[in-house]
Amino acid sequence: MTENRYILHIDMDAFFASVEQMDNPKYGGRPLIVGGNPEGRGVVAACSYEARKFGIRSALSAARAVKLCPHALFVRPRKERYKEVSIQIMEIFKRYSPFIEPLSLDEAFLDISSNHETMEAAAETAEEIRSRVFHEVGLTCSAGVSYNKFLAKVASDMKKPDGLTVIPIDEARSLLDTLPIGKFFGVGRVTEKKMHSLGIHYGRDILRFDKAQLIRFFGKAGAFFHDIARGVDNRPVESQKGRKSIGTETTFHSDIDDIDEIEKILRDLALKVEQGLQNKSCGATTVTLKVRYHNFTTVTRSCTHSIPINSVDEIMKCTRQLLETTDAGKVKIRLLGISLSNLTNTSLKIPVQLDLPFF
Ligand SMILES: [Mg+2]
Repeated sequence: MTENRYILHIDMDAFFASVEQMDNPKYGGRPLIVGGNPEGRGVVAACSYEARKFGIRSALSAARAVKLCPHALFVRPRKERYKEVSIQIMEIFKRYSPFIEPLSLDEAFLDISSNHETMEAAAETAEEIRSRVFHEVGLTCSAGVSYNKFLAKVASDMKKPDGLTVIPIDEARSLLDTLPIGKFFGVGRVTEKKMHSLGIHYGRDILRFDKAQLIRFFGKAGAFFHDIARGVDNRPVESQKGRKSIGTETTFHSDIDDIDEIEKILRDLALKVEQGLQNKSCGATTVTLKVRYHNFTTVTRSCTHSIPINSVDEIMKCTRQLLETTDAGKVKIRLLGISLSNLTNTSLKIPVQLDLPFF
């Protein structure tokens, strides 16, 4: 099965910042930060490659970013615009395969196995997609080509920006052997630390442990690490056709502004959608909150995680953050809704708690 799978991972380069630079030529070639402000409030949502040269990264505090690069330019995120560009990009992908699994606005897996016979042909298609994205949208992206999702994702990161990397099956093991453990999918800061404490610094170090040991250290994710260190990842590319989202909403008998009551209602909704996920054995990467104010104005707020979530606590954590960006609690509201989208099959995914402390 492995030998004739051709999986692409395509990832836009510094997406939000690149969109800003494309739309505003005066930002071109400058250290640009999307999110936060020059007074040092907020966090960096994305930054241009010019800003990265100063050590600026997404999720860094704006205060720190200003210290690293005092002349950096801050712009406010324009989510709607990024979505618009994202749709354009995904439309291009669709010409090459019906099997597309977006991970966020700016990256997706494509399974092109059914109409490709060799890794070389798959690589040519990846190159063609990169060229189409550049000419039709105006942005660069990087692509990884391999025989499974994990390796395709590792590959797309290897020659960023504007690069293409192919990892054929006979090169996978030697590459994984020397791949720093922090580059493994699902290994965040906390897991990386734990790996280091076990003497695991590179892919080859995982091979010293058997599956049972790794499961003991890392829970279910241990089994996943065991396999990917050996280049094994049979997760399918999950296109979302047929199960786009799971959602529920409720209208109140009388409008409310009591935050405790709102919280209680949200929890009931979160429990319902959690049940929906369990029925379908799904996780979701996108959580959307819908709030309708007393005057019938409706707002929606979404957030997208890099790893699917599936528990009521995770859904609530996200929902609470979204709620804070609305006027709920300040003005009366008449409806609340939660929906989950970007659904993926959890039975084939690594668990979500990877980045929680272990002890
Ligand atoms: Mg990207």
